[in-house]
Amino acid sequence: MSKPLVAIVGRPNVGKSTLINGLAQRRVSIVEDIPGVTRDRIYCDVKWLDREFTLIDTGGIEFKDERDQISSGIRQQAELAIDEADVILFVVDARTGMTADDETIAGLLRRTGKPVVLCVNKVDSENQEMDVYEFYSLGLGDPVGISAVNRLGFGELLDRITEGFPARTEESSEDIIRTAIVGRPNVGKSTLINSLLGYQRSLVADEMGTTRDAVDSVWKFKGKTFVLVDTAGMRKKSKIDEPVEKYSVIRSIRAIDNCDVAIFILDAEDMLTEQDKKIIGYIHEAGKGLILFVNKWDTIEKGNTTNVEFEKEIRKGLPFASYAPVLFGSALTKQRIHRLGDMIYAVAEQASLRVPTAVLNDLLEDAKMVNPPPAHSGRVAKIYYMTQVGIRPPTFVMFVNDANLIHFSYVRFMENRLREAFSFEGTPIRIVIRSKK
Ligand code: GDP
Ligand code: GDP
Repeated sequence: MSKPLVAIVGRPNVGKSTLINGLAQRRVSIVEDIPGVTRDRIYCDVKWLDREFTLIDTGGIEFKDERDQISSGIRQQAELAIDEADVILFVVDARTGMTADDETIAGLLRRTGKPVVLCVNKVDSENQEMDVYEFYSLGLGDPVGISAVNRLGFGELLDRITEGFPARTEESSEDIIRTAIVGRPNVGKSTLINSLLGYQRSLVADEMGTTRDAVDSVWKFKGKTFVLVDTAGMRKKSKIDEPVEKYSVIRSIRAIDNCDVAIFILDAEDMLTEQDKKIIGYIHEAGKGLILFVNKWDTIEKGNTTNVEFEKEIRKGLPFASYAPVLFGSALTKQRIHRLGDMIYAVAEQASLRVPTAVLNDLLEDAKMVNPPPAHSGRVAKIYYMTQVGIRPPTFVMFVNDANLIHFSYVRFMENRLREAFSFEGTPIRIVIRSKK
């Protein structure tokens, strides 16, 4: 279930973006505020054979004349990505050949002790293959020659990347619900975890002078086990303005990829931002369970309908996630947070629900009666049957005579029927349309 993280590093212009675009199945760009700069960082999912991983763009490491002229924010971003990664994909350029910066980056990467795949880009034709060899001297093993624009060498590159993944452990994690606590800095993630656990977690310092928690927290509630994954990292309260505050996105992506259910925390005093929407969109696209927790509810002047109005406002901003339950509460005063345990559990159950094919097809017959699939340029769509092929998220395949005849709105209609019948509260569901002659 855990999806490895691969960080892509290299000088500007070596072809990192081109490579990412060539490999990406699904991509999300999330704006990050690095002190001094705002940039879009790309996260994408890559599938290769039976393996899947998340590739993140570290923003490029650039060394100016003076080594320390490089914006320390960008450098730290790259370092954090490297820190979090399972495998590092180091891209160099066959056309420019090896540069001093490549050597500096290689030195930095060797010291991480992480698996590094050295990728020599812009090897557009066979007679350039010799250009690959000079990069042996970087001391990072066999370089892989590729051409990102021509999509050459991707197979070998992907083999090399996935071979460096940690072995998949078939631990009996069935009963443990991994819960990612996600949200912007200061919304109350740490406070919520401490309140759920009933004690203050200890702080562990790392080299960057910041602090973060050493382990995910295990929370036992009503005989069930939850692993709470903090995405903020912890820090001393006095260091609240340190750059580590800005780092939450990388950790969020990683935690989301590896969770069963994500609790997205909103601050009752703030509106939903574009960044919030993108991260919630990422949770949705990743097929994870989702609960929206509006925190700091204790600070709001409330009338009879305040939460109704709030909820309406939130839902308006998140039309794609209408299945997510919304809870209002306070991590600080503990108001309503005891309900989270049951909610997380319920959402995880819904995400694992299996509907027997016979039951699905009764539903399908009913749905077709109420709303027959419309004809398209004289051709009539025929839906034969439907079956569930997966859980987490529940995934259905609908077999039809011609997939092109089934409009998006019909899929939406089917999704609504499924939800009316089985709820699936808190979990996205997927419906795949397949043509069958
Ligand atoms: P980034 O700064 O590392 O993200 O680099 P880009 O992906 O923006 O690429 C920089 C330039 O190199 C662009 O002009 C690309 O078209 C070019 N480029 C990328 N991959 C290849 C390749 O495989 N062969 C050649 N000849 N050019 C490439
Ligand atoms: P994080 O960055 O998301 O982990 O946020 P923290 O847990 O560090 O909380 C940021 C600040 O908000 C701290 O000063 C908390 O005491 C405060 N805070 C957290 N939850 C609540 C709440 O429910 N109500 C109020 N009034 N303050 C809260």
